[in-house]
Amino acid sequence: MVYLANDKRYDKMVYNRVGASGLKVSAIALGLWNNFGSVDPLETQKAIIHQAFDLGITYFDLANNYGPIPGSAEENFGRIMAGDMKPYRDEMVIASKAGYVMWPGPYGNWGSRKSIIASADQSLRRTGLDYFDIFYSHRADPETPAEETALALDQLVRSGKALYVGISNYNGAQTKAIAAIFTDLKTPFIIHQPRYNMFDRGIETDLFPVLRAEHKAAVSYSSLAQGLLTDRYLHGIPQDSRAAKSTIPFLHEDQVEKTLSTVKRLNDVAADRGQSLAEMALAWNLREPEIASVLIGASRPQQVVDNVKALDHLDFSDAELKQIDAILAG
Ligand code: NDP
Repeated sequence: MVYLANDKRYDKMVYNRVGASGLKVSAIALGLWNNFGSVDPLETQKAIIHQAFDLGITYFDLANNYGPIPGSAEENFGRIMAGDMKPYRDEMVIASKAGYVMWPGPYGNWGSRKSIIASADQSLRRTGLDYFDIFYSHRADPETPAEETALALDQLVRSGKALYVGISNYNGAQTKAIAAIFTDLKTPFIIHQPRYNMFDRGIETDLFPVLRAEHKAAVSYSSLAQGLLTDRYLHGIPQDSRAAKSTIPFLHEDQVEKTLSTVKRLNDVAADRGQSLAEMALAWNLREPEIASVLIGASRPQQVVDNVKALDHLDFSDAELKQIDAILAG
């Protein structure tokens, strides 16, 4: 059946301005790191993307290496964009990144001009897109001058291959340094993509003050700690869960065990708020003014539906925030 987007898709979603830029993004964004590779059924991928778009999600997040196999998430996304989603391109903010290992030899990794430009060209070919809305440097390269990486990203914008640029996994000092270069170049650098969730709060003291001073926004990744901050593991490790799979082994079974008692207590707080734990975890990230959007991963459309419900209850009382801090402190 031909997909026709829900005509009520803009009714409930929240759209936040990205720093001081003209761009707004959906407060919930969909990431394609997992579940969109060559090992995953294309029909499920389509269903997740359609579900997201129908709920007003406009920001879709890729990287050169997402899969597995690396590159296959961009190829699959390209198939979907060439088909059902084609009429909606201008309603979407599509991002990709370069910086982690993608092809053999010295040029398929990190942040040299050679790597960034070649990788962006490959990503455009794989997705079949004319341009990315945001192109990120996926991580700071300690061996390449920040100016070289910045100039490569700037060139992507000037040559029409990207509208805006972003950085990911840069610490506060690295962010400050490259932001100054972008300012000199007048590059539309607008966004940072850090890891941030209840279990991983390091950026609160390091990065957030820099983003605030620079008027930049963040889109947080692993906002649900890869599924730990949901009800997914409350009663064991399901066979079809990320922790049980070995295709991208970043979530280990021992992390599930280690966090379980904390997760159970957080789940009780969420229940008192009338929310699922996933909803509360996303709302908790969005309480930070620097966070314009929270990225979610999803292995099925229903998870997207559940996560968007976070927007129904974004406020926290001081007592709730203290209770959460106390639980996290152990
Ligand atoms: P999450 O923390 O959102 O974890 C996603 C997983 O959580 C899903 O695959 C699913 O697990 C589970 N889940 C999601 N919603 C629910 C729900 N409502 N109930 C129960 N379980 C749920 O995100 P990711 O770690 O996948 O990161 C999200 C995106 O962030 C990535 O796709 C990518 O775009 C970006 N990212 C960027 C990085 C960077 O370096 N810049 C690094 C990592 C991610 P299951 O599969 O078990 O169902």
